[in-house]
Amino acid sequence: MEPQDGSVRDVRSFFVRHPTPLLHTLDDAQLEARCPLDNGMHLVLPNTPIGDINRLPLELINQVLGRLDIPTLTTFRRVNQRAMHLVDSLPSYRRIWTTCPDILRAAVSLNANSFSCDTIFKTLIREKCEFCGEFFGGYLYLITCTRICHVCHWGLEHSPVEPSTAIRHFQELKMDYLVEKLKTLPQVHSLPGCYGPGRRRIVSEDRKTLIDRMAIMNLTKEDCGYAYPLANEPDDCPENPRRNMAIISAPYLSRQGQTSEWGLFCSLCANYLPFFEIKYRAQDMVPHFERWHVEDSDAPWYMFYPEAVMRWSNYSPAGRVY
Ligand SMILES: [Zn+2]
Ligand SMILES: [Zn+2]
Repeated sequence: MEPQDGSVRDVRSFFVRHPTPLLHTLDDAQLEARCPLDNGMHLVLPNTPIGDINRLPLELINQVLGRLDIPTLTTFRRVNQRAMHLVDSLPSYRRIWTTCPDILRAAVSLNANSFSCDTIFKTLIREKCEFCGEFFGGYLYLITCTRICHVCHWGLEHSPVEPSTAIRHFQELKMDYLVEKLKTLPQVHSLPGCYGPGRRRIVSEDRKTLIDRMAIMNLTKEDCGYAYPLANEPDDCPENPRRNMAIISAPYLSRQGQTSEWGLFCSLCANYLPFFEIKYRAQDMVPHFERWHVEDSDAPWYMFYPEAVMRWSNYSPAGRVY
């Protein structure tokens, strides 16, 4: 039963904007300084000629532009003022840069070119994690533009792979001919920075090519019918910065109107890894509190999330609590 108004407010006071300890992702990569956007800063003359594109109806132009990836769209936007006007007026692009410009900055900085501007928007108007479907998906995995929750972020599926690991994988399977297909898979170039959970964050100084792990496995499936899993690398633990280099906070956008919701963290779950990083929308806060933080709910938290815990313990047998 929903508590009275006063207690709803009390419950919400336990939810905070920043978790303890912090997870260091692209949110901490100084994207605004590294990739300043000039959107809205210019007086644009929308009638500047732009060749044959002007002969197309606006609806068709919007459909074409919406299917371009963000780095390509950004390059086109630089052509002239008409191009800038067309891109800035594109509904999906406009909504993203007014609500979550860091996602644009990250896509440009990482050269994330495996998905379109419209795909980002369609992902942002979904609410749940696309992987488990249970929690609010408060993050975007920017290699494939997948909305995920923090529990699924810990899963090996979202741990990207460097090309050397992929090449070794194909060599061990005697499928060397697949190496040349690596460049066609979803991938990004990481930004140097400090990534990882809390005190265990690690500084990464290189730009690494990071390829989607599941796409590599799917290559072997297309070839021989079985998706061979990549062998665990010795350093493939949750602390490995690779896991956080393509992760960024993502709001839930309402399909209509202009509202957005980023989710808040439960301060009472702060000691439980990986659950301290789960974000809750306003509508989920009271149900979460009633389930976990009322006196007669003394069952251990891991009883309720068996699949998530199995996923977690598979990849990090070392303790759950910081
Ligand atoms: Zn999930
Ligand atoms: Zn909690």
